[in-house]
Order: sequence, then structure tokens, then C-alpha cells
Amino acid sequence: MSALSQEALRRGWCPSTLKPMETGDGWLVRLHPPGATLTPVQLQRIAALAAEHGNGLIEISARANLQIRGVTAESHPKLVERLLTEQLVDEHEGDGPQRVTLVSPLAGRDPTGLIDAAAMVALIEPRARTVDGLPAKLGIVVDDGGAQALDGFSGDIRLVGMDARSAVLCLADRLWLGPIPVTEAAPTVAAILCDFAALRAAAPDQIRRLRDLSSEALASLSTLPEAAAPAPRMPPRRAGLFALENDRFATLVGLPFGRCDAETLDRLGAALAKADIRLSPWRGLAFRDLDRTGAEALLRLAGDLGLITQDDDPRLSVQACAGSPACSRAEAPTMTDAAVLAAAAASLLVQGVTLHVSGCVKACAHPTAADLTLVGRDGSYDVVPGGTTRDKPLATLDLSALLTRLQPGQDIHARLVKAGRSMGSQG
Ligand code: SF4
Repeated sequence: MSALSQEALRRGWCPSTLKPMETGDGWLVRLHPPGATLTPVQLQRIAALAAEHGNGLIEISARANLQIRGVTAESHPKLVERLLTEQLVDEHEGDGPQRVTLVSPLAGRDPTGLIDAAAMVALIEPRARTVDGLPAKLGIVVDDGGAQALDGFSGDIRLVGMDARSAVLCLADRLWLGPIPVTEAAPTVAAILCDFAALRAAAPDQIRRLRDLSSEALASLSTLPEAAAPAPRMPPRRAGLFALENDRFATLVGLPFGRCDAETLDRLGAALAKADIRLSPWRGLAFRDLDRTGAEALLRLAGDLGLITQDDDPRLSVQACAGSPACSRAEAPTMTDAAVLAAAAASLLVQGVTLHVSGCVKACAHPTAADLTLVGRDGSYDVVPGGTTRDKPLATLDLSALLTRLQPGQDIHARLVKAGRSMGSQG
């Protein structure tokens, strides 16, 4: 890894189009399409550029970022030139976040949404970009309060629609404030970001995110009164067919473990004359504004291409990083092993048990705990039930031994059944 990349990782830097990150299969280029939206033709162009200037592998991250893999020092300038010329990327050159907001891919068109989260994001995003001194990883979750709940995503700031006119705001996922009128959301968030940047300027290495602030410092960021957290909602549907407003439909597909090849992306784009395409934080794509026939046809095509088209697909409960051979730090082929493990543990995963397959302790795909975390070690895996990649493993097992111990009656299976039960009792 280059000196740049090591320094960048230490500082909590994020890859982008202009600043790619070295990985085992070359440079990873992250791109942010203007307005976080794409047309079918643009989707095909990105697929073509990924094949021409990268290794043809494309990812969507858990923060709904598009990533092109396998770019080289020689191909990178040409890729950047094409992306800029074709207006496929919207990026500033500073160190701050390239995109701060995370929103449902149906936002603005979802009839269950209480507020127009897409409109709110359109006001927050440009304001946030003007604030100097924000950490690159800062995230603002804008949840419309409808069926596509974003509770599963952490945020420095969270806005949740309460009714057509108001929202509540949460800082560092622990201090709920409000309510505020939706018209006040963007200026309120901008003011909080400015105050946070000022606090952070005094100790940038200690204060990386809002969660690093003391309770007193966090409370000082707003004069809004404390509020109750919104009532829990059912988990969102992460794939399938969705009815939108005005008798239109959306097809939401997931990429298995967040990854697909250029040909798959090209075929999805080629199937549609017109669609409003959004990136999904459930590591997929939403094709919006389709008629019912077109949306159903696209869903069938996506299924034929091996993509996730149903919310009970066990692969949706599995997080896996690029692993080997894609990443030079990887000690196991996480993607292929994750597919095998997802099939073997399907009955547990569809009940909500979570599995994280990581090529090393860095945990790029899932930094927090999972019901079962596997950490690559010399071709096998350190097995961590109910923990993170940095917790003490129960054992180190190769894939075959793991599959055996995931069978009913075996110890790891029994632990996951218990995890599933305790989840059920909490729900
Ligand atoms: S978790 Fe480790 S192996 Fe996986 S992509 Fe990140 S650095 Fe590579």
C-alpha cells in the first residue's frame, strides 16, 4: 500500500474518483453521480467504463456509493476524464465528505413516506459541502418516516419524518431533539455542522465524528428541546416490486454482497428506455418510475442475472468484503465463501441472523458486530459469535469445518438459533 493510502486510512479518509484507494486488484474508484441519480444510458456508460478502465467489477457500498474496481495508474486519468466529460461524477477536491446524506432509494416517490426526504436531501447536501473541517466519513441519515425505515444505518445526524410538516432530529444516534418544521431542517443541520466543525478544529484527531463528543458538547450543538425517539417500525423491504405515487412502480434489486460485473449492469440498463435510477444503501439499485409491466419484467431479468429480487433472500443478511484475490490484505476468498455459507445457513439468515465474512480484521464491509463474524486467517476463518472482527475468536476453522458446524445439532448452529430467538423476543 502506498504512503498516501496509509496516511489516508489513519485520518479516516474515504476513496473518491480523484483519490482512488489501492486494493489487491488495483485501485478502487468511488464515484458520486450528480444528484445521486442515473439514467439507464448512464448506467450502461458506467458499466462500459468499468470494463474499459477497470477490471469490470462494480460495487455498491453500504452507504450507497458506486465503486469501480481494478483501475490502474495508467487507466485512472482516462477514466476520470470520461467520467467528468460525461457528467457522471460530481466531486470536489477537498478533504471533506463527498456526499453526506443517506436516504431511501424510493425517497420522494414512496406513498408511505411522511415527508419528502429527497427534497430535504437536495437542500442539505449543498449546504453541508460548504462547511469546512467536516470529517470525510460524516453521515446524515434522512428517513421519511415511512415503510423504508433507515434505522439500520448509523448517522452523525438523523432526521425522521413525524408527519407531513415536521421531523425529529437525532445527534450521534443518542440525543433526540425536536420536533422541527421540515422547512427548518436544512438550516438547522447546517448550523449544527458548523458548530461541530468548530469544536472539532480544536482536537481533530480526538473528535472524528459527533459520537466522540461528550454529552454536554453534543447538547450544545442545538437549542432544540429533547424529544422522544420515534416508535419502532417494521424492518424495510430491501428488494422487490414497489408501488409508487401516481400509479407508477419501482423495482429494487440487490447486488449479492454489493458486487456485480459490468455485463450485468449493462444488461439492466439496456432493458429500459427510461427510468430514474437510485443507488440503494441495501447495496443495490432502485429503478423508479416504471409501469407495472416494465417493473415486473425488470425484476425477472434481475433474477435471471443472479441478483437479489426478494426480501427473504439469505444473501441480504450477509456482509462480505472483497476478500482475495481482490484485496491484497485478504486471507480468504470471502465472496465465494459467503455465497456457500449463505446457502448453508439460509434458514437462519432469513430469520434475521446476521453473518459477516471479512478477509481480515479491518472489517471494511461491516465495522460493527454480527451474530456470526468470520475473519480470514491464512485461508481459514477465525470464528467470532456475536462480535466484531476484533473480538476473541471461538475457533479457527476452514470452510468445510465451518459448514459442518453450521448444521443443525452442531454448536455454531445452536448459537445462531439462540441469537435468532433473542432477536425475536426483542421484536
Ligand atoms: S476487510 Fe480486509 S480483506 Fe476485506 S476488503 Fe477490507 S482490507 Fe481487504
